[in-house]
Amino acid sequence: MTASPVLELRNVSAGYADTPILHDVSITVPAGSVVALLGPNGAGKTTLLRCASGLLRPTSGSVWFDGQDTTRAKPHQLARRGLCHIPESRGVYPSLTVRENLVLHTSRADHKQVIAEAVEHFPSIGRRIDQRAGDMSGGEQQMLAVVRSYLAGPKLVLVDEVSMGLAPVIVDRIYEFLTAVVKGGTSLLLVEQYVSRALAVASSVVLLGKGRVGFQGAPSELKDDVFAHYMGAAAQVTKD
Ligand code: ATP
Repeated sequence: MTASPVLELRNVSAGYADTPILHDVSITVPAGSVVALLGPNGAGKTTLLRCASGLLRPTSGSVWFDGQDTTRAKPHQLARRGLCHIPESRGVYPSLTVRENLVLHTSRADHKQVIAEAVEHFPSIGRRIDQRAGDMSGGEQQMLAVVRSYLAGPKLVLVDEVSMGLAPVIVDRIYEFLTAVVKGGTSLLLVEQYVSRALAVASSVVLLGKGRVGFQGAPSELKDDVFAHYMGAAAQVTKD
């Protein structure tokens, strides 16, 4: 039996002002799955995430989250329903402390427990708890961004370039964490420049080229020539 989708884009077109970026895009994220969204720079991956989380209204087509038509829903409404978006910029408030960042992001009243759970997953967060988030390293800020999203109890997390600019050892920690999150039932839609990392955790892959879906299926079904065609120069980052 196929799991019901937690997210669907049906024939979505979208863009900025007069510039169309996405063309008739349909993708499905089954509940409990990890979908890797891959494509070269400028393919429209971030734009697709923005449509899914309500930051950008499609010009046509529809977006469905958790069985509801959410095409016109606002980002905060979607967040309340369990859709969490970690943007490339991480979305951490740099002038607030780590503690304030954690507490602001949750509707849970048990703030002490929220902080204890964050520290349990990433002990270095505990050592920084009363520092300004903006004074932490990029890796620590990314840990804060992912753990903060998880503690909000999401059904789906949209993750944009989580590894960008981070040391491999930090990326390993973050992926370990994301893998545990998925085991707990949360779905992920993952934009990732390190293709092999994304494919290692993904149950399904979507290839996007020039705003159009070129492939959606299991990583094992992705043929090398199709991959190379859609990834272009980025295919140097091998699929293996
Ligand atoms: P990258 O890996 O480089 O982030 P991407 O696949 O995520 O690429 P997008 O960021 O979605 O691609 O950008 C797709 C296109 O939309 C690009 O040509 C980009 O310049 C353009 N674009 C992105 N944001 C805006 C904006 N706010 N206004 C106008 N054009 C934009």
